[in-house]
Amino acid sequence: MTARLIDNFGRQITYARLSVTDRCDFRCVYCMAEEMTFLPKNDILSLEELLQVGTALVNAGISKIRLTGGEPLIRNNVMWLVEQLSQLDGLEELTLTTNGSQLVKYADQLRRFGVKRVNISIDSLQADKFKDITRTGKLQAVLDGIDAAIDAGFEQIKLNSVILKNRNDDEILALVKYASDKNIDIAFIEEMPLGDIVEHDRLLAFCSSDEIRQIIDKEFGLQASDKKTNGPSKYFTLNSNANKNSKTHVGFISPHSNNFCSECNRIRVTVEGRLLLCLGNEHSIDLRALIRDQNADITQLTEAIDKSMAIKPERHYFDLSEQPQIVRFMNMTGG
Ligand code: SAM
Ligand code: SF4
Repeated sequence: MTARLIDNFGRQITYARLSVTDRCDFRCVYCMAEEMTFLPKNDILSLEELLQVGTALVNAGISKIRLTGGEPLIRNNVMWLVEQLSQLDGLEELTLTTNGSQLVKYADQLRRFGVKRVNISIDSLQADKFKDITRTGKLQAVLDGIDAAIDAGFEQIKLNSVILKNRNDDEILALVKYASDKNIDIAFIEEMPLGDIVEHDRLLAFCSSDEIRQIIDKEFGLQASDKKTNGPSKYFTLNSNANKNSKTHVGFISPHSNNFCSECNRIRVTVEGRLLLCLGNEHSIDLRALIRDQNADITQLTEAIDKSMAIKPERHYFDLSEQPQIVRFMNMTGG
């Protein structure tokens, strides 16, 4: 399909992240405060409204949708939405980012509905540290979820890890080894200043992609790969000391150390129906108001998405010493 959404900087927008809930069964320290106030139920889009938004996105030229949250798999009846979206003409790929806690239950069904790839977040392989970082998570449920995803036969499984200094930076190699043994990919994400947290100082905890890359390179030998996904990751393969038959790619998502805005191909929709044009800026369009107050149909929603290209910012500016620049927590943004 030829891209229809083109912004003022000539970027073709083909990818949308659709948040299906702000709620989560975990409280990861970099993503949420310990005591979170979630949105009133009335403020969040119903599954039918989410389908309307998804349909309009595809009509506007979006060919890939990633469901996210919060934790997408804890939204009641989310599989109905997955099934409906998977049948949209023009949607080439439907994917999901999950913390893995519900995958034992849903992996097979997701695969059956045509989801080919999943991203699963995991920051530690030690039960106590995993609990410390997620506050409420149980490591074994996630490990079982990863195995369920492997058994379900997804074409690609990618682990996502956020590394925090003096917290889980001693597990970088163990996480790579785990991914390599399972023959799945792994990407390391630099922590971003989204939402006001007091649990740790984001500046002190910051671990750059360069530091992580050096640690992995020293042990496993990294070789630049031409692998391209729809995202901003730079990928490498492992040369040695890893499982010889492994096809694991190691990626780095570096919103600080390597600004990737010039290649941005994405937009986001929060579960309140706010179409966000950039992760690090507040420019947005209120799709919920169009649906609920103006009774907008799919054509009108599609037009609104088309018009939003005029306000997509050129880039984000993150500065960890000045938090929070963006008051939205990541669970609100739709990570
Ligand atoms: N609950 C799902 C999960 O954890 O995979 C999906 C939503 S979560 C917000 C999506 C991704 O954002 C996760 O991989 C998480 O590690 C990452 N994330 C959350 N807060 C972040 C932050 N402040 N900086 C960088 N990555 C963050
Ligand atoms: Fe939940 Fe994902 Fe945020 Fe962790 S990163 S609190 S699992 S939404």
